[in-house]
Amino acid sequence: MIVHLKKETPIEIVQECTEELSAFSFSQNDLFVLVNSFKERTINDKFENYVVEKFLFDSDIQLASKKYQGSREFSVDEIEVGKKDTTLVITGPCSVESKGQIDQCAAFVKSQDIKVLRAGCFKPRTSPYTFQGMGIKGLKLLAQVRDQYGLKIISEIRDASHADAVIDHVDIIQIGAKAMYDHGILNKCAKTNKPVLLKRGFGTTLQEFVQAAEFILSGGNGKVILCERGIRTFETKTRFTLDLCGVAWLKEHVNLPIFLDPSHAMGYAYGVPDLTRACVAMGVDGLLLETHPNPKEALSDASQQLDFNEFSNLLQSIKPVARAVGTKII
Ligand code: PEP
Ligand code: MN
Repeated sequence: MIVHLKKETPIEIVQECTEELSAFSFSQNDLFVLVNSFKERTINDKFENYVVEKFLFDSDIQLASKKYQGSREFSVDEIEVGKKDTTLVITGPCSVESKGQIDQCAAFVKSQDIKVLRAGCFKPRTSPYTFQGMGIKGLKLLAQVRDQYGLKIISEIRDASHADAVIDHVDIIQIGAKAMYDHGILNKCAKTNKPVLLKRGFGTTLQEFVQAAEFILSGGNGKVILCERGIRTFETKTRFTLDLCGVAWLKEHVNLPIFLDPSHAMGYAYGVPDLTRACVAMGVDGLLLETHPNPKEALSDASQQLDFNEFSNLLQSIKPVARAVGTKII
């Protein structure tokens, strides 16, 4: 339950009310108390005079629920996220591999009029015997090309030990699918003002996915993007299965911007363009696509990355699709 209190409510009353309801309390635009249960709780008469409105839910999806707030929009400087009529394209390699490689990628991204460059530096690999990412060195290279080309950057946190370094360097923080449940990371991200792109764990339900986002929201950071990147099903011919039904459900019930990552879902570059057009047709808020100057030589996710030519063609082809569903590619 969320209880909105009048702006002029004395702080002692907020504190007392918070304690009595074992609630979180915080003030954003309005003052509200977020109760540790979605069900209705009786409020002492003493506080009743201060109450503006109570919001009740049918599950612990509270701050992210459309019943509470229609939609959440925010901006990363001049880039608007979550607006009804825009789809933000983010692209770049799976990993930062070298100064030359990330420089080539940044120059390409800039040439395509794309505003946000993606690249991982701490890679959550399935095997310890593969490339694990360049770490801090990679973050520094990424920050350099950001300044040089006037781009924004997004990179992922793999575990809480380097969370502060990633948060300091990037414009948007990525939490990867394997880290979706990591409370060390979720709590760190709750305490920053930077936007967080939270990927859905590949074995998690939509309810669990949105509840992970609630940890960030209830900790004080309202800038959360949900990213569907494919879930594990019985199918083995594709890397994962992109849950577009789930996206329709999120659009109906959840107020957070929704991004789609067709690259990790498909796992093979040949399928990414068709899948991306399907994603755009769903009218989503953004896309995350992997591109590499030479995908065959990529140190991670080689099979799914688009080369620059493939990406340029794809970008042109999604513009009319976006127009058809009333959005614009930015
Ligand atoms: C990535 O974006 O490169 C990545 C590792 O994605 P995911 O967490 O979805 O597997
Ligand atoms: Mn990848």
